[in-house]
Amino acid sequence: MEIASEKCQFRAGEYIFREGDRGDVAYILEEGVVEIIANIDNSPTVLNTLTPGDIFGELALIDDSPRSASALAKTDVLLTVISKAQVKARIEQAHPILQLLLTVIMKHFRSETAKIRGNKSSDFPSKFYQEKLHNSIELIRLESELYQGFKNNELLLFYQPIIELKTQIIAGFEVLLRWLSSKRGYVSPEIFAPLAEASPLIISIGEWVLEESIKALLLLKEHSKRDIFFSINVAEKQIKSVKFIEIIKEKIVGKFNREIPIKLEILERSLFEGSEAISFIEFCRKYSIPLVLDDFGTGYANLSYLKKFQFDTVKIDKCFIENLETNNKDQIICKSLIELSHGLGMTTVAEGIENQKQLEVLKNLGCDYGQGYFFSPPLPQDQVIKLLQQ
Ligand code: C2E
Ligand code: CA
Ligand code: CA
Repeated sequence: MEIASEKCQFRAGEYIFREGDRGDVAYILEEGVVEIIANIDNSPTVLNTLTPGDIFGELALIDDSPRSASALAKTDVLLTVISKAQVKARIEQAHPILQLLLTVIMKHFRSETAKIRGNKSSDFPSKFYQEKLHNSIELIRLESELYQGFKNNELLLFYQPIIELKTQIIAGFEVLLRWLSSKRGYVSPEIFAPLAEASPLIISIGEWVLEESIKALLLLKEHSKRDIFFSINVAEKQIKSVKFIEIIKEKIVGKFNREIPIKLEILERSLFEGSEAISFIEFCRKYSIPLVLDDFGTGYANLSYLKKFQFDTVKIDKCFIENLETNNKDQIICKSLIELSHGLGMTTVAEGIENQKQLEVLKNLGCDYGQGYFFSPPLPQDQVIKLLQQ
């Protein structure tokens, strides 16, 4: 066998792989004919004859099981090799529920072929896949519980103060979702937020967050001597949803006629390759809805976004703040981000401020706003009212 780049050749009569081999590549047949042969009742049986354009050997890449059949070159053949790494990376990037479906389909396929061959047992799925299966089933369960929980009013909003660093006065709050599940107790947003964001449920949850936030903002205004704003997280699916734009029009644009006290936080990665993202941003500009670029610098750190779209605020991610007091590189990054933002007419918020030293560095660098446990953790509404009355 000769391997030239990602292509390889076999002579007529050579086996490309044999039943029972450990497989770590799949093939696309470019030239020639390949037979797929399995041992059925102890006699070799041709299952399939492949011609150029066909793909084979892919199953072993997906579920790590030994080859379930042999592949024999009937003529001289030219093949393109698909490596395990190529397939694995893509499967791992797929949503866990798709991974689950793939695993279940594979399991079904393996047990059916084992039956045809008269094998009673199949060692599939491997321990690794059993674990994956278990995790995916757990995610599906959690998602349906979240759906139920949302209907049963188990979601709450907490509010984390955003402080104007120059004056140390509360300028606004970031609205953060909380889920107090009747079954599991408190579930971390790090777990349920990505799950909600990956499902259509985020549109309804997002609508609810907006409604609740507006009610809370109007209530808090009665207790606050100054104007305050809310900063609300918006997921990629929401940005791309026509329905969500309608909801914003109705709930925000229709409600506040002059300066809109609600900012929308979007992640840099939501903007990636999306014409819908562009129309969303244009929509927000048209109606003067302030936009915050959240977690800037953690994704693609694509400066062309800053050139193409006008944001009001850039949020410096907590990973740059964590070691700010000791790490010179973090200081340089923060300094540059703040100068860049100011130069382009945007304000800056630093998130995750946990101590006085970090605060001092940020103040010296001219950062406009900050939030973090040093000032306050996210709080329920009644505690926010008390805080504003102090
Ligand atoms: P995020 O938007 O980056 O939110 C900031 C996170 O940092 C919050 O975590 C907040 O509690 C946490 N945090 C605040 N101060 C500090 C600090 O001083 N140190 C550290 N280490 N962390 C701090 P949380 O509330 O667990 O939220 C996690 C993520 O869940 C959020 O990250 C956001 O991506 C998502 N999320 C939360 N609420 C919503 C929502 O209403 N809609 C959407 N789409 N996503 C949401
Ligand atoms: Ca945020
Ligand atoms: Ca953030």
